[in-house]
Order: sequence, then C-alpha cells, then structure tokens
Amino acid sequence: MAKNLHTHCSFCGRPREEVKMLISGIDADICDQCIQNAGEIIEQEFEFEKSHQRPQQPAANAAKLELKTL
Ligand SMILES: [Zn+2]
Repeated sequence: MAKNLHTHCSFCGRPREEVKMLISGIDADICDQCIQNAGEIIEQEFEFEKSHQRPQQPAANAAKLELKTL
C-alpha cells in the first residue's frame, strides 16, 4: 500500500497548503511552524540546563589522578 506522504505535517497535522514549508523525513514530515516550535523548546531546555547545572562530579578526574599517582 502506497503511503500518503508529503501531504501534511506529522506533528501538528496541518496540510501542506496551510504551511510555508514541509520538510520530509523517512516516515514523517514537519512544517516550518513545528520546526520553529521545536527550536524554541530546545533553546528553553538548554537555558534550563545552564541555570540548573549541577556541580561537576569529580569521579572521572579522581580516577585519572589515582592512576597517575600509582
Ligand atoms: Zn507542523
């Protein structure tokens, strides 16, 4: 059965006619609006991670130091 690809955004469901751009993946398509939304979410996540950064675990460095002192 032929797949009905490239007719609408797989994320928001908007038809091709209603979006500026539809980018096709292997099994899904994404419109320019969803790409923009995704970009904003990614940016927000990065900002969140930056502002909630945990202190670095020294475990990896400690192990290296131990090896050097042996
Ligand atoms: Zn979309």
